Amino acid sequence: MRYRELGMTGLKVSEIGFGTIPILSGNVPVLPKFFSPDNETAVAIMKKAYDMGCNFYDTAIPEEYGDAEFKLGEFAKTIDRNKIIISDKARFYGGGEIYREVLRSTENLGTKPDIYFVHQVDDECADEVFGKGGALDALYDLKREEKIGFTGIASHYYSVLYRGAKDRRVDILQGSGNILERGMLDRIRTEEAFCGKGFILNKVYAAGLLIGPFTVPELIGGILEYPFSCALLGIGTFSQADDAFGAEYPPVHFSFEDVVGRLKKGFDPIGCDRCEKCICPYGHEIHTTFRQYNYFHLGKEYWAIGKLGMDLEKTYKHCRACNDRVCMNECSRHLCIPEEIERVIGLFEAYGDR
Ligand code: SF4
Ligand code: SF4
Repeated sequence: MRYRELGMTGLKVSEIGFGTIPILSGNVPVLPKFFSPDNETAVAIMKKAYDMGCNFYDTAIPEEYGDAEFKLGEFAKTIDRNKIIISDKARFYGGGEIYREVLRSTENLGTKPDIYFVHQVDDECADEVFGKGGALDALYDLKREEKIGFTGIASHYYSVLYRGAKDRRVDILQGSGNILERGMLDRIRTEEAFCGKGFILNKVYAAGLLIGPFTVPELIGGILEYPFSCALLGIGTFSQADDAFGAEYPPVHFSFEDVVGRLKKGFDPIGCDRCEKCICPYGHEIHTTFRQYNYFHLGKEYWAIGKLGMDLEKTYKHCRACNDRVCMNECSRHLCIPEEIERVIGLFEAYGDR
């Protein structure tokens, strides 16, 4: 296992970390498959990862990750606690709420979280999170009170991560990316504000959907060139732990065209890298629409279609009447965005009512 610096925290983290969603039992609305291992099995899987060099474990409160937080706490009792780093998170944006959640997480884990993230921050709630008395202020206080080790912001949005990167109260950022959805990683790599912040990467397998067109060594090797601290992989079985931690995969370079070319063997993907530079004045989240199209074809049919329904027809109406098409000005993949949206509409019309 290789290790990387976690920003300016002084901690060294394993290049690959343990994402605990797949070890939860029960029915929590998250993406990956459930394996529902019992406590003993879950602890044994985490121990196996530990024995192979993993020292970073990421979880969230029970409303988000079911009983994973409790299982991680059980595991932490079985080893030298100082040898692992526990990151936890909650989707609460007010200061009082996140303060309460940190105390509850500490009780659930039976130990202090090393890192606590405000989870799923988007543009809508960012002012509350970053503002006076918001969740970030509270995390900063909790750090000074030594109730957590470090503060974090987790988001799927570059704009939010960039705001976090510029904020001195934030130690660590958590965002998404993989060899297909690499646009945000490309931006982070060249943006100075991110230097000195720890960066935890998730969705390396795109919720498992890229396994098939690509092998695990390709998906892991393909992201190693990016300057993250630790890449989280969701682990729910012993064999997944073996795949993730059992080998030191060599870095491999895939151009974006290589990746799209490989996907083309199965379907005609929308060649969007999710750089999030396409700002639509009507507020359409273009990159999410394109993600749903690709995810549909990669095997998440019903989930993808369900999410598409929310905004698509309104978007299409606006696009047809839109003359300046400002969304295309900075598209890093030079996509004709309205035409691609039309393709998504075609998919929605064919499958939306099923
Ligand atoms: S073409 Fe116009 S309406 Fe459509 S996504 Fe782009 S900016 Fe928005
Ligand atoms: S449509 Fe273009 S600008 Fe928008 S996220 Fe995709 S690649 Fe980036």
